[in-house]
Amino acid sequence: MGSNPKLKVRLDKIRENASQVVNLCKSAGIEAGGVTKGMCGNVSVARAMLEGGCAFLGDSRLKNIATLRREGLKTTFMLLRLPMASEIAEVVSYVDVSLISMPETVKLLDDACMASDRNHDVIVMVDVGDLREGIWPTSAEIEEMAKALRASRRVRCVGVGTNVGCFGGVLPSSENLGHLLKIGHELGEYLGYELRVYSGGGTSSLALIEDHTMPSGINQLRIGEAMLLGSDITGRRLIPYLHQDTMTLVAEVIEVRRKPSVPIGIIGADAFGNVPVFADKGIRLRAILAIGRQDVKPEGITPLNNGVYVLGASSDHLIVDVEELGYKLTIGDTLAFRVDYGAMLAAAVSPYVEVVMEER
Ligand SMILES: *Cc1c(COP(=O)(O)O)cnc(C)c1O
Repeated sequence: MGSNPKLKVRLDKIRENASQVVNLCKSAGIEAGGVTKGMCGNVSVARAMLEGGCAFLGDSRLKNIATLRREGLKTTFMLLRLPMASEIAEVVSYVDVSLISMPETVKLLDDACMASDRNHDVIVMVDVGDLREGIWPTSAEIEEMAKALRASRRVRCVGVGTNVGCFGGVLPSSENLGHLLKIGHELGEYLGYELRVYSGGGTSSLALIEDHTMPSGINQLRIGEAMLLGSDITGRRLIPYLHQDTMTLVAEVIEVRRKPSVPIGIIGADAFGNVPVFADKGIRLRAILAIGRQDVKPEGITPLNNGVYVLGASSDHLIVDVEELGYKLTIGDTLAFRVDYGAMLAAAVSPYVEVVMEER
């Protein structure tokens, strides 16, 4: 059962999503890794992704990777966020392959490898226009990175990668991923060997496989959202061959009362500094649920019941209009919601939300 609020996760559906994505990628000669950061590196979710056939696991947080390793998961672990200089020793001990963009990081990783008698693989991130991480692909930057890699004794460059659809919202395309291939070949020439991995993004890149516009040569994707939620925020779509009902957020009713739909008094700002606007719908039946911004992103949840409308939330309270709900709600009842990526992330990291695993 679990306590409230809780996030119920259907592991069988995540496993099936992972398997569908892995097979689609395989049909295009691409290996798919599972990205666990949206669920805070949850070990059951990570295991379901591996059971679905993921070639490796990626997370943005070293802490999550360390936990998954300690839990005994056997796979290749990829650190998705550029390593911090202050965590380099732990990176080489817990991570198999890091995404990097700074020549200085290569040197730090190499020194840490020497000190601990280990090897480490890196993928050089290339910015093809989204303006998050990556070298800016000029010959000077490529050459500088190649120089650092050539000087390293224990750090090996296995490939290049890119990130799209994150900061700038840039969609992957045959042009920008084609550019990645070209930069990879140029870097390989400086290094004197062919790169093995061309890592072409995350969930939003699946669309290119579906419509057969993925440039040949891209051979790896790092997939989170599609496996976890069956959606693609950047591409603004639900992915038709995947499950969207993988998770349910459950919150408990602590007040049910008829109240006016417009506050009474002079409106200042709400608890977060925003000036609220209200439409006057007269007196309405409203419920307060014991969940708030400390638990979830209220803008990212969708009620599963018809006739429930989210009006707003403070740190600890969610206000919903239940006038049109078909049954009488009382305290102790619960309401259920779907979550988007932001709401899932918030719920998964909140210490107040219990994550409950379910299997059909
Ligand atoms: C989060 C992340 C991914 C996964 O993105 P999704 O859109 O969830 O598939 C892939 N690569 C990097 C570098 C990331 O940070």
